[in-house]
Amino acid sequence: MTSPSSRHRNGFGGLIARLAIIALVGFGGSWLAAAQVGARQTDDAPLKVVATFSILGDWVQQVGRDRVELFTIVGAGGDAHTFDPSPEQVAQIADADIIFEIGSDFEPWLNDIVASSGSSATRAVLTDGLDLIPLSGEEAHSEDAEQAQASPETGEAHDHGPVDPHIWHDVSNATASVERIRDELSAAEPTSATAFAANAGPYLQELHGLDGEIRQQVGQLPEDRRKLVTSHDTFAYFARAYGFEIIGTALGSVSTEAGDPSARQFIELVEQIQATGVPAIFAENVSNPDLMQSIADEAGVTLAPSLYTDALGPPDSTAATYIALIRTNTATIVTALAG
Ligand SMILES: [Zn+2]
Repeated sequence: MTSPSSRHRNGFGGLIARLAIIALVGFGGSWLAAAQVGARQTDDAPLKVVATFSILGDWVQQVGRDRVELFTIVGAGGDAHTFDPSPEQVAQIADADIIFEIGSDFEPWLNDIVASSGSSATRAVLTDGLDLIPLSGEEAHSEDAEQAQASPETGEAHDHGPVDPHIWHDVSNATASVERIRDELSAAEPTSATAFAANAGPYLQELHGLDGEIRQQVGQLPEDRRKLVTSHDTFAYFARAYGFEIIGTALGSVSTEAGDPSARQFIELVEQIQATGVPAIFAENVSNPDLMQSIADEAGVTLAPSLYTDALGPPDSTAATYIALIRTNTATIVTALAG
């Protein structure tokens, strides 16, 4: 039998025990973490971590540093929408402890190779839990769109329907993603949690400053100039966060897998560009610029320097890191649209 007084003692004892645990962890009591079933040790080999594409790879590197062995599947300049993994990359996925992915159909090739590789990696889907932008029916991939339309809850299809995956163009999503990466790495290797937190802290501060920088620069652009035309629909999060309007895109899709526009779509976009009076439109580092050049020529506007949309630039470029990419894109957009 448990009397009220013994329950009280147990409760108090439990509190003391929790305080003791907090103190031991706080003082680096690694024996305690060692006692956790399946927890890794700092003297183990680094965590094997896969990031699906270059921007995500940069975030993981910033947090993991020398405690992770990072494999980035789609490298700088590569297009994750249309990627075809090599056998070596399938092997990296097979060996991984954690896979960081955007999800929301950004990496349409990933499920198949995770399944065929027999990987038992933890999959961390970074769009989970974010405030995602639903796609219009036209832009939704047909399979997902059918599922959404099949929902009996009319009007709520967007809650579970296809969404735009390009979260990284809003710096607040980068912040949430870096926090998630820190937490996932810490869960996989609790003995390195202090190191992951120490790495993430200054980087999160930099991201906070970066967001302010964008707002300050965009603020120099008159509101009626904050209008974007790009190859594929990759800037919805940038537009929502920083007050831009997407006038149109050449491919009319959130994926670069979409085919070139029809003659009619081409003319419609040219007319939209002329009607809104934007002085410039933008090509992208992951798409062939020829189509955008033709549209710019037809509309009589400038083709601005290519934006770094779905991938980092090469190491010697001005977009070799996520922070550099955002700075470069913002400067390119503000300069071109100031016209
Ligand atoms: Zn894209």
